[in-house]
Amino acid sequence: MIKLVNVSKYYHNEGIVSLGLRKINLEFNIGEFVAITGESGSGKSTLLNVISGIDTYEEGELYINGEETSHFDDDDWEEYRKNTVAFIFQNYNLIDSYTVLRNVEVALVNQGYDFKTRREKAKEILSRVGLHKHFKHRASKLSGGEKQRLAIARALAKDSEIIVADEPTGNLDSESGKQVLALLHEVARDKVVLIVTHNYEQAANYVSRKVRLFDGEVVEDKEVRTFIPQEPEEKIYQKMSELKKSSIISFYNFFGQPKKSILMLLVSLATVLFVFLLYGSLLNVDDYVTTPGVSLEGYGNFYKERMIVIRKDQEPLTDEDYNKLGKNKKIRSIIKEDSVVDINFLLVDDSLKKFSYMGGNLGFLFDYDEANLLGRLPEKEGEILICTYVMEDDILLMKSFLDKEYNFQLSSYRKNYDFNISFNKNYKLVGVYNTPVYPSKFVISEEEIKEVYNYLRCEGGNYELSFKGEKYTGGINFLKVLYDPSLTGNQVKSLQLNDFLINDLSFELFWEDQKLDIIKNDNYDKFNDLYVSPELFEKMVPLVYNQYTLNLYKASDARSVLDFLYDNGYYGFSPNLSGYAYGFGMDYILTKIINFVILGFSIFVIYLLSYLIFKAILNSKVHDYTILRIIGFQKSNIRQIIFLEILTSFIFAYILFSISYQYIRIKYPVMDIYELQDYLFIGLINLFLGVFITLKFIRYQKKRSLFSTLRVEG
Ligand code: ADP
Ligand code: MG
Repeated sequence: MIKLVNVSKYYHNEGIVSLGLRKINLEFNIGEFVAITGESGSGKSTLLNVISGIDTYEEGELYINGEETSHFDDDDWEEYRKNTVAFIFQNYNLIDSYTVLRNVEVALVNQGYDFKTRREKAKEILSRVGLHKHFKHRASKLSGGEKQRLAIARALAKDSEIIVADEPTGNLDSESGKQVLALLHEVARDKVVLIVTHNYEQAANYVSRKVRLFDGEVVEDKEVRTFIPQEPEEKIYQKMSELKKSSIISFYNFFGQPKKSILMLLVSLATVLFVFLLYGSLLNVDDYVTTPGVSLEGYGNFYKERMIVIRKDQEPLTDEDYNKLGKNKKIRSIIKEDSVVDINFLLVDDSLKKFSYMGGNLGFLFDYDEANLLGRLPEKEGEILICTYVMEDDILLMKSFLDKEYNFQLSSYRKNYDFNISFNKNYKLVGVYNTPVYPSKFVISEEEIKEVYNYLRCEGGNYELSFKGEKYTGGINFLKVLYDPSLTGNQVKSLQLNDFLINDLSFELFWEDQKLDIIKNDNYDKFNDLYVSPELFEKMVPLVYNQYTLNLYKASDARSVLDFLYDNGYYGFSPNLSGYAYGFGMDYILTKIINFVILGFSIFVIYLLSYLIFKAILNSKVHDYTILRIIGFQKSNIRQIIFLEILTSFIFAYILFSISYQYIRIKYPVMDIYELQDYLFIGLINLFLGVFITLKFIRYQKKRSLFSTLRVEG
């Protein structure tokens, strides 16, 4: 079975060569129970280590079942250790966190047995070593003798031809020692059992042979009693993939050490959470507006201090809302006529030759430098100020353009409208704010804002009048209703009425139940417009405010104001925060690039941090991993086990987070900024983090020798 021919082993330590074994010639066969004795330092452990493939030898040849081993590489030795040798240590090397049953089952996993067979076999073997009362006990709770019997049970479960035991009775009282020896004696009937012992007298009654070493040499080798040679049994290997074996073990570990698993879960959760928030805050602010079920009227003006507010119940805003919002100290002003903020002004008049093209949104001059102001701010209806850059040389010329009227085209720029409204208006240019910072901005007074709102408040409306006449009765539709201050009472004017009906004096025109007075006119040019008196206008187009624009003092208050709004029954939207996606050009791309760099860097830092914690947790498990290797699991199994343990906690954390996030999402729609692809992307980042942490830990572990810790103890 095992044959050593002139085997020598030297230890090289810092230039000093010491002898481990010298020209050993021994042969062991199935059925033998051999006691190896000798003084401390005589080479007993070294001999066992060489025989069991834990240690190498320098000279001679070790034959296993007739096969030379001097050409064995690491994989061959792994295979040999996995299938042929089982170890029993003086300090037992059990997995303390497992139950007695599981300590045996773990060896059976490596044999490839299914769950049921593992249970049955483990119970059978444990009964054989007298531990049937302790199946469910933790290994750490057993007495020394019981632990050693459990170690033997585990060795038996491995079903190897060779069992080596380095001072298995060293830690036991004599009664337990005897039990262990008796057990090994029984086991030795169909195996080779080699035990190192200090106390030969105790073993003498059981062993079949005694080998004594001195200074690395065999000085005595005698048969104590005859043994019956046995043929090695044909081993039947069960088929189970290595990955499945690793999964079973990582499952055992995950639930066997709940505290560590929970800690790993928490670290993973923190990592997942961090990545989620980071990703959201850097890359996905643009989706604020896509809250399901919330319909914003839209916006096209993106200045930083702007915030749009609607009520959660999506009803029009009232004076009460206005007062409530006005109390917030971070809000500088409230523009009820929100849609005016999105008006696009275009200077049409080309009498301003030098500045002939100018277009842009409505703006506000909150903090302005008096020195840059040519003229003054608009104070009443019909006045306008332009923000633009005027070169030094042109300032005088520009001044000469002030206080004159110019024609502007005003067009509404709102996402949700079916049609664009645009109309022309004359304004008196009262001021120019000379700035390169925000050119193309137009400032009008509060009164003018209200005035312009009258053009917009009927946007998208559909107003139906009915008429009753001798020749015709029916309805007539107008898309827009406008007012004409020259009209009073129920007076109306329209081109449509002109062409079609006005000369037929025998009909009457109604809006709802009110009879209208048709005024003949000839200079209105819009076919779909109905001009009415101011009083009638208020009735036909009631003044409602579906959304307000708030101007904040500081753009950086946006998030806290969003929270304030949310808590007080509103949805708030910051076009600036939400607007990245609609902006293009260099700034947009640059922002994205910077965000990616920040994201990458932060993820790298969180990776290092969570690695450090994982490393500490895994280091505390290394002892168990080493024991698994001694039982016969291979390096690749250990890698898979570590990988699966880390991955399991990451996946758990990811699922846990995603589920709780769904809950938050439903409760706080404004926070709802993630879409499916974001979940997938974030999942992927976390998966990579798990993989990197595993790889890094394995690389770190590689530098440490597997058996070094146990060899000292053995
Ligand atoms: P035993 O188990 O009989 O007490 P060992 O087999 O452990 O003895 O040691 C045999 C000899 O080899 C001793 O002289 C010991 O100092 C030496 N030795 C054992 N392990 C090492 C090692 N890792 N490095 C250097 N010398 C060693
Ligand atoms: Mg020793």
